[in-house]
Amino acid sequence: MALKGKVALVTGSTSGIGLGIARALAAEGADIMLNGFGDAAAIETLRAGLETEFSVKVAYDGADLSKAAGVAELVAKTQSELGSLDILVNNAGVQFVAPVEEFPEAKWEAIIAINLSAVFYGMKAAIPGMKAKGWGRIINIASAHGLVASPHKVAYVAAKHGVVGATKVAAIELANDGITVNAICPGWVLTPLVEKQLEDRAKEAGTDVPTEEKKMLQETQPMLKFTTPEHIGGLAVFLCLDAAQTITGVPLPIDGGWVAH
Ligand code: NAD
Repeated sequence: MALKGKVALVTGSTSGIGLGIARALAAEGADIMLNGFGDAAAIETLRAGLETEFSVKVAYDGADLSKAAGVAELVAKTQSELGSLDILVNNAGVQFVAPVEEFPEAKWEAIIAINLSAVFYGMKAAIPGMKAKGWGRIINIASAHGLVASPHKVAYVAAKHGVVGATKVAAIELANDGITVNAICPGWVLTPLVEKQLEDRAKEAGTDVPTEEKKMLQETQPMLKFTTPEHIGGLAVFLCLDAAQTITGVPLPIDGGWVAH
């Protein structure tokens, strides 16, 4: 229970990687603010289930992070409902795939707003409270696409490279405030975000999802297996421990060797 007494906000935690991180932090005793979209009854079942399973407080707010005010309100609500905000995990993200010359402007704007600007607004709102306490952990979920590119993902790759840059700036500024700021850069993780891409690829190629899963891994990852939300939760917990107190400003790949080759 290394994180007992800490409060964590995990954006986009109703699904996928965010949920894996929320579960891992709760398992270490942190109280959790969940955020993200989904069916209200299913989210309430999830919230109440986490409280029972891990004996921690779990709150939920459905703030839309494509809007700056939504991010600031979410941070304020975490502080007022759970007493503080010690661990901020900027995780919410969306994807859209098309060549640059066909990429819809509205998709560009939405991806930059959710995947990049929300990270900035979240850090901006959370830092004063962390500074006042002299302790904080900011974990930004970037991607292997924060370090290298793939075709047809111009907004996503630009946003994730931006997240890595913003992470480094905040880390330098906060280096002597007891606050670390790092980016986690996952390779392929089987979540709804990737399942949609696999279904689209299978439709286009006239194949099936298992075939496309194998091809997707072979295209980029020397290690031919998916990272899981649980693996990423484990890394997020590690970054919150005392042993990680001098790790800051780092984009940490967890990607089966993707960016190594
Ligand atoms: P996911 O689709 O399973 O989850 C995304 C979460 O973000 C959901 O809870 C969703 O409701 C929430 N969300 C989306 N738009 C939102 C908005 N406007 N306001 C608030 N919440 C919003 O996807 P995931 O794969 O778990 O992705 C989580 C993060 O991990 C993203 O930043 C993604 O870019 C990153 N990532 C994913 C992979 C992968 O292979 N799945 C790899 C690298 C990085």
